[in-house]
Amino acid sequence: MNRQHTLPALFLILSFLTACNLEQEEQIIGVKIYEHSGPYDQLFASWNTMGINTGFCSEDLISDQAFMKEAREKGISTFVIFPVFFNPEAIAESPEIAAINQDGNPAAEEWVEFVCPSREDYRHQVVEHARQIVREHKPDGISIDFIRHFVYWEKVYPERNPATLPLSCFDSLCLSHFQAVTEISVPDSFNTVPEKADWILKNQEEAWIAWRCQLITSMVAQITVAVREEKPDILVNIHLVPWARDDFDGAIERVAGQDVGDLSKLSDYLSPMTYAHMVKQSPSWIHHIVEEVYMHSGGTVIPSVQVGKAYLDNEYSLEEFRETLEAALQPPSSGVVLWSWERLMAEPEKADLFKDIVTAL
Ligand SMILES: [Zn+2]
Repeated sequence: MNRQHTLPALFLILSFLTACNLEQEEQIIGVKIYEHSGPYDQLFASWNTMGINTGFCSEDLISDQAFMKEAREKGISTFVIFPVFFNPEAIAESPEIAAINQDGNPAAEEWVEFVCPSREDYRHQVVEHARQIVREHKPDGISIDFIRHFVYWEKVYPERNPATLPLSCFDSLCLSHFQAVTEISVPDSFNTVPEKADWILKNQEEAWIAWRCQLITSMVAQITVAVREEKPDILVNIHLVPWARDDFDGAIERVAGQDVGDLSKLSDYLSPMTYAHMVKQSPSWIHHIVEEVYMHSGGTVIPSVQVGKAYLDNEYSLEEFRETLEAALQPPSSGVVLWSWERLMAEPEKADLFKDIVTAL
């Protein structure tokens, strides 16, 4: 074979190998699971039958040796769900650590309460907690949750006026941290939190958004450094608020502080919580969000979808669940994560449908 023929032949072989490799790259078919009374061998045997290859698990389950042993034996990957700034227990103990909204009140709505993201002692505790879980229980991955600023997005519907979304944190720590990092000074004539917040948002909004995105990104960086020291091959997933870049006047950065491009560089997966039914969106919206996250991050996107009703009382039918799964699995998605296993078990028809769809992939 002369050189003229060798190169195209090599190209064909390489293309073939690449295609094989892509085909072999397994999609993540996951479920979030919070509690289980066992026996675990039966649980994971049913996951094997249903095509589920990954569990996104509470710390309680990850800390259960029998759970982890059975998961390994059945070839199930385990991620620990790791909440960061949502921490009502810590706030109940020390109310002064709560994040503060632009109106001067604690960042809290119903069950959602957030800690101020500038507190070095809290951040250090979080990092060491992540390190300890990974050191002791060696999960395959960590799924970083509530890694954002306060917002009760579960009840933010399409018609919501962006100006009514809460902005935090404006406690004294964040106000001085922001001014020190950016070398911006809030004029002395402003005394109250609402006055200072108002001045910053009117005069230095861009710097403020960048600074508070960095608070979130740097928290992910600190956690990933620590867990990779304990387990170099650990996988990192990040839970995202399910908003496209321009939704609600750029709220994914402006309100939640999630810069998907920067977060993608630090992680293996990005998982938007595309609970369409809950936020009054159609199933096709899930694909739109996946495309958006992929386009702005270049990362591997695994949308999370809801199985049962939540917050709203209107029917969530089997047909809507089918459309939800189909939209979630459409490329560039790299799989799907169900919220949750408990809800799936409560609705056998949805469990059968899910099994039919994912085992046919
Ligand atoms: Zn703060």
